[in-house]
Amino acid sequence: MVKLAMSWSREIHKLPLGTRYIGLLPKGCTLCHEGLKLVLFITGLCNRRCWYCPISDLRRGKDVIYANEVRINDIRDIIPHINLMEAKGTGITGGEPLLVFDRVIKVIELLKAEFGEEHHIHLYTNGELLSLNHACALKECGLDELRIHITSELSWKGIKNAINAGLNVGIEIPVIPNNGLNYYTNIIRRAESMGVRFINLNELELSESNYMALRIRGLTPRDDIPYAVKGSEELALSILEWASRNVHNINLHYCPARVKDAIQLKFRLKRVSCKVAKTHEVVDDDGLIVKGILESNINLQTLKGVLSRTIGERNVFVRNGKTIEFNVNYLDKVIDLLNSFPTILRNTRVYIIRVHPITHMIFEKIPVTVKR
Ligand code: SF4
Repeated sequence: MVKLAMSWSREIHKLPLGTRYIGLLPKGCTLCHEGLKLVLFITGLCNRRCWYCPISDLRRGKDVIYANEVRINDIRDIIPHINLMEAKGTGITGGEPLLVFDRVIKVIELLKAEFGEEHHIHLYTNGELLSLNHACALKECGLDELRIHITSELSWKGIKNAINAGLNVGIEIPVIPNNGLNYYTNIIRRAESMGVRFINLNELELSESNYMALRIRGLTPRDDIPYAVKGSEELALSILEWASRNVHNINLHYCPARVKDAIQLKFRLKRVSCKVAKTHEVVDDDGLIVKGILESNINLQTLKGVLSRTIGERNVFVRNGKTIEFNVNYLDKVIDLLNSFPTILRNTRVYIIRVHPITHMIFEKIPVTVKR
């Protein structure tokens, strides 16, 4: 677990993988860093069309719901996903969640009733549609953090309504190199004067859907991280440097693109994998499930018995007559054994596979060469 600052100061604190912050880290971010937040994509509908929007074409403009990466149809289906990863909170995102406002309220009420008040919920919105009534309803049902992505002057009106309703309000914006330092320092000064509690600066990300729009504006990928935009991190660090001399009581946080991938996602997957892994499956450092697999064009029933006696029944799983999974830690023993069954060996391929614990998608299938 990372050690965090306990009191406010203008010092720039550093966390692994390039995260920087001034003041205190928002609670939603702390939980996210530990992989303890479920990501709830509540709708792909949006009232804006930001050129840098990273949402995939599969979701954009469609009224679909995803709990982590899994499509669901009923909001009650969120609960098993939270249990699976033992999440301590939920981040609701979109699209623009306020376009399905009743659904958002129902979700917050459902999760607070099911997991208690302490289940931390934050909501992302561009705030343009946020009336005082909306904000009061969100406050009443127990929303813990509202994060507003500024898209126009209307977003500032939304911020005002949210603050007046007593919500814990932050701003969350991508750092676009072309905007320059002044654009961000003006936002920080204005936010601080209004009583915004925190500002999250996200490294600008490249995705399949925004790639062309970014390239047209002269933005290119970083040499070391192909899904992050060159210059975004440098600008974010200059903003923090400026803030360390100029802010008085607002919290600032720079979140690098690789944190999402390397920390949040990995920890989340690990928690799920450790829960669902069968006795013959191993969880790797990326949180994926790893196992050995024998695929044959003949029946492997004879081999199954011998294999179970050699490496233990709990390390063997028969998927069907022609496919057997085994604990990858016993790979050498399995290969030795195969060598004593020449007919099976001739007709069988050995692989190591890495599988996503929720979607069961195979990320990697590595053929193992068996000396015959
Ligand atoms: S407001 Fe958010 S979801 Fe909507 S288009 Fe802009 S970046 Fe995408």
